[in-house]
Amino acid sequence: MDTQMLIGSKFEAGTEIEEKILNPKTGELILDLAEASLGQIDAAVDAADKAFQSWSATTPGQRSAYLLAIADAVEKDALGFATLEALNCGKPINAVLNDEIPAIVDCYRFFAGAIRSMHAPVAGEYLPGFTSMIRRDPIGIVGSIAPWNYPLMMMAWKLAPAIAAGNTVVFKPSEQTPLTALKMAKLMADILPEGVVNVVLGRGESVGNAIINHPKIGMVSITGDIATGKKVLAAAAKTVKRTHLELGGKAPVIIYDDADIDAVVSAIRTFGYYNAGQDCTAACRIYASDKVYEKFVADLASAVSTLKYNQADDTENEIGPLISKRQRDRVESFVARASEHKHMEVVTGGKLGSDKGFFYAPTVIAGALQDDEIVRREVFGPVVSVTRFSDVDQAVTWANDSDYGLASSVWTKDISRAMQTAAKLRYGCTWINTHFMLCNEMPHGGLKQSGYGKDMSVYALEDYTAVRHVMIAH
Ligand code: NAD
Repeated sequence: MDTQMLIGSKFEAGTEIEEKILNPKTGELILDLAEASLGQIDAAVDAADKAFQSWSATTPGQRSAYLLAIADAVEKDALGFATLEALNCGKPINAVLNDEIPAIVDCYRFFAGAIRSMHAPVAGEYLPGFTSMIRRDPIGIVGSIAPWNYPLMMMAWKLAPAIAAGNTVVFKPSEQTPLTALKMAKLMADILPEGVVNVVLGRGESVGNAIINHPKIGMVSITGDIATGKKVLAAAAKTVKRTHLELGGKAPVIIYDDADIDAVVSAIRTFGYYNAGQDCTAACRIYASDKVYEKFVADLASAVSTLKYNQADDTENEIGPLISKRQRDRVESFVARASEHKHMEVVTGGKLGSDKGFFYAPTVIAGALQDDEIVRREVFGPVVSVTRFSDVDQAVTWANDSDYGLASSVWTKDISRAMQTAAKLRYGCTWINTHFMLCNEMPHGGLKQSGYGKDMSVYALEDYTAVRHVMIAH
């Protein structure tokens, strides 16, 4: 197992306090990893700074070749990466191997192609006697900070567009899930020039804080909690850094009376609970039309109660545990508070999912009202609430009445109703008769307090570059 950080071309252990890395399926210790000192963070930034001079001068074709080599190497060692990610996050191995790794490999390949075909406005004479052109240049050093729910995928979403665009990076994984980032560090050191990608370990309040406040870092890209995003913004104000914020979500799902209920139930069973609901796009806040409400709740409860977790044979598992005891306790406390209200009913789940490890039983809470905490706050666990509506406009108003603005879906056979609803929803993404589906060609990112800036797609390349005007007098 790779246990050392990457600073320039050197592999080093951290020198500060140790973090316990646990197996969420058992709660057992995998290993202790020490976090980076301020000196080591400075050294990583200096290495990125030095590398920027030559990396930013490479051609898109050259950078593309590096990204393709990274993609090939990850694909070649897919089982190794998937096994380690499953160990550190508790994910079912098949979910990592069959869903996540192919999407991660494709992310590096997508940006390898996209950087060679980026479009810009044509050059021309906008003042007589002067020719203007637009350049899209890298920003410099990007400080990238990732969460624990999809460690390898978040690393790909952040690193691939940043380095494709000619930036260099100091990357910090979540202190809870650093193992695959360290394996990637080794892989990248074998492929990339020294200092292009540096990986440092540590907690948000120490190492993360040093990154977001570092004067030499030109842009901070973070995926995490809204509260963390606000800290990044406050720090960025001091040196006017660029920021790219992918924060939380609380995805509304509107089910109209003409929806295919079997299809919705099957989709929510999967996409409300994928990754144990630790997903910012999870289909967790349902608004079901009065006419279909009873059937939908009964069918969903019955379907969700069949979800497989904590099986001895991991290939049978559909979902894993929560990432930590703290996260499981948090989920449990949300359900306990909801249960105190008479108008809500826990129709399935509502209990711990195991004696050891951090499992929580997949849960459906029916009868939730718009002002209930379970409807308003991100649980980030395997818990879905269902709210009844009788008026179509009310459903859209409730769906939009949220601090979050990342993802949403609408279910109906009436395409004009679907399109009208999609136009009104204030979310970075609206799916019609599906949920959760992402592809590297399309942007992912939020509105409102879910943040701004796009992951994936050419829009991410735009975010990781600065538009510049060059004018020539003739
Ligand atoms: P978190 O905000 O606690 O941590 C995210 C990262 O930020 C970690 O690496 C952490 O160490 C770091 N961090 C924490 N405090 C910091 C500080 N003061 N300064 C600098 N860095 C700091 O979030 P989490 O618990 O790891 O992840 C769950 C959250 O992430 C959820 O809210 C979820 O919705 C969100 N998320 C969003 C997306 C998206 O695409 N919008 C994707 C995945 C997760």
